[in-house]
Amino acid sequence: MKRIYLDHAATTPLCKEALDAMQPYMTEYFANADSTHFLGQESGNAVLSSRDNIAKCIGAKSSEVYFTSSGSEADSWAIKGIAFANKNKGKHIITTEIEHPAVYNACEWLKKEGFDISYLKVNNKGLVSIEDVKNAIRKDTILISVMFANNEIGTIEPIKEICELAHENNILFHTDAVQATGSIKYDVKELGVDLLSLSAHKFFGPKGIGALYIKEGVKIDPLVNGGEQERGKRGGTTPVYLTVGMAKALGIAIKDIEKNNKYVIGLRQKLIEGIKDEDVSFNGNVDAENVLPGTISVLFKNTLPGIVLHNLDIAGIEASAGSACAAASDKPSRTLLGIGLSEEDSKRTVRFSIGKDNTIEDIDNTIQAVKKILERLKKGN
Ligand SMILES: *Cc1c(COP(=O)(O)O)cnc(C)c1O
Repeated sequence: MKRIYLDHAATTPLCKEALDAMQPYMTEYFANADSTHFLGQESGNAVLSSRDNIAKCIGAKSSEVYFTSSGSEADSWAIKGIAFANKNKGKHIITTEIEHPAVYNACEWLKKEGFDISYLKVNNKGLVSIEDVKNAIRKDTILISVMFANNEIGTIEPIKEICELAHENNILFHTDAVQATGSIKYDVKELGVDLLSLSAHKFFGPKGIGALYIKEGVKIDPLVNGGEQERGKRGGTTPVYLTVGMAKALGIAIKDIEKNNKYVIGLRQKLIEGIKDEDVSFNGNVDAENVLPGTISVLFKNTLPGIVLHNLDIAGIEASAGSACAAASDKPSRTLLGIGLSEEDSKRTVRFSIGKDNTIEDIDNTIQAVKKILERLKKGN
């Protein structure tokens, strides 16, 4: 059976161009990028050009892009690194209740170190209100972190406005752009953000590499201590081939972004129309503009929690519950509870996330499978 992959928000397959670009750096050009001999310089130059290309894609300077091992590390570094570098100014941080665990749990961890965290609520579309941010700001607030786009329901947050508000109050602003990057074209200078996290495996790049954009002049403590790699801010021998793959994949994603988005939005619309039913409702911002092109969060009302997802898997369709990261646990999704779902309904929810590699046939087959499952469940077996 051909499996239909509709879980691009969890991870994407590596694109062929990135694989081809990486291969020489896994074999022939294996040297340490910091070695001064000939081969070392070849590696070093590859990392330089990866950094340049990534910087260009997001509107940053090369010197503002720092490689990390993942989006999670970039998030953790941003939150903890800023907290510790600014603890003499204050110990209050504002974030949202729908953040990815990488941000949320970094904040929870900081509580043990005496930091105070305000978690902003969202409306039933998953949107943070500017008014709420205003009201949460205190004299001792040092950082506001709001995700660019949510990984479960796809809602895009008004980060430019929140960032402006932060700066009016002399507060640093971080955004987790891991889910947004590759689906939304942005420019860090235009957004004005101080820190921004990304991860290669969400835009058809390799797993195991991410990056943190740190605006020039922003003081941050290291998270990973070590040698002089990443201008002394992040230790660890640079995985040259991963930087090459990340840069290649991001370049392609940005080049094709309009074409891909148009195509993916078409597939998404088709899936939404095809599975509409009295027992189906759509979470979040389904018909609005400010939602990621490929993400659909679907509530299957009147079903046993988890049963639709399980039946989809049997039918060869790879979707997920709220998010892949929470799949192993039994905890209800913070995002789905945040937009007002009951615990039971959060477990009746399935996330489909479509990618540029999906076909119209994939969507047709998914619609048929969903219809069959719903019919069977309605008959009570
Ligand atoms: C996937 C994801 C992360 C984590 O990135 P990893 O590279 O898998 O650690 C962080 N934030 C969001 C919004 C994500 O979707």
